[in-house]
Amino acid sequence: MSEIIFKTKAVTKVYDTGEVKVYALAGVDLELFSGELTVLLGPSGSGKSTLLNILGGLDHATDGRVWFRDQELTGLNDRGLTRYRRDHVGFVFQFYNLVPSLTARENVQLVTDVAPDPMPASEALDLVGLGHRLDHFPSEMSGGEQQRVAIARAIAKRPEILLCDEPTGALDSTTGVQVLEALRNINERFGTTTVVITHNAEIQKMAHRVIFFQDGKISETVVNKKRLAPSEIVW
Ligand code: ADP
Repeated sequence: MSEIIFKTKAVTKVYDTGEVKVYALAGVDLELFSGELTVLLGPSGSGKSTLLNILGGLDHATDGRVWFRDQELTGLNDRGLTRYRRDHVGFVFQFYNLVPSLTARENVQLVTDVAPDPMPASEALDLVGLGHRLDHFPSEMSGGEQQRVAIARAIAKRPEILLCDEPTGALDSTTGVQVLEALRNINERFGTTTVVITHNAEIQKMAHRVIFFQDGKISETVVNKKRLAPSEIVW
């Protein structure tokens, strides 16, 4: 039985804009397990990013409780959440947020310079298939390559958790598959617990677990007995 990495209980997130209250999360109970790659699916506005940001310590829940292993994230102040993020979490977003004036290697070194036990930037870039592009600038790379640099930057500090919000959202299918392969490679090689938000329902076929969101709640959870390799996914 796998270890529980994240547990949430009755998590809500309410945006109070004065006239209306928006329930971005309306009571979410979930468990995520060590080493699993989980895909979050659901219509736009159903609460996926809000949940990911709370799990990653980027945002506070309005109510309910969230644990990372036996540490209660909902009990931490901003400083505690910053330490939690620094020590445990890698993030990948839809837009790569690379520094244009730095090479691939230098972009990754921004993280490895301050992490306690990082891998060399060249090793991280090798893991995402870019070991031969160390000295290239973002402008010399395709969108998929830039996203793989962003993944290398996220994993170079050896995080236990990798949280990805629409990592292939800006990519075509060929470069998207290379990004998914990089994520699967990291997940299998290091057992990094990985959560991927996507609009693309086909991507669920590579997940261990698929969680469907609707109106700020989980509508269904599916555990895949058989998974596809990213290259077998047609989209
Ligand atoms: P998803 O990731 O599934 O597209 P989100 O988590 O981004 O959904 O958003 C959930 C709901 O919360 C949406 O209705 C969105 O408009 C609302 N929301 C998100 N952020 C804010 C905010 N800062 N202020 C007000 N409403 C917000």
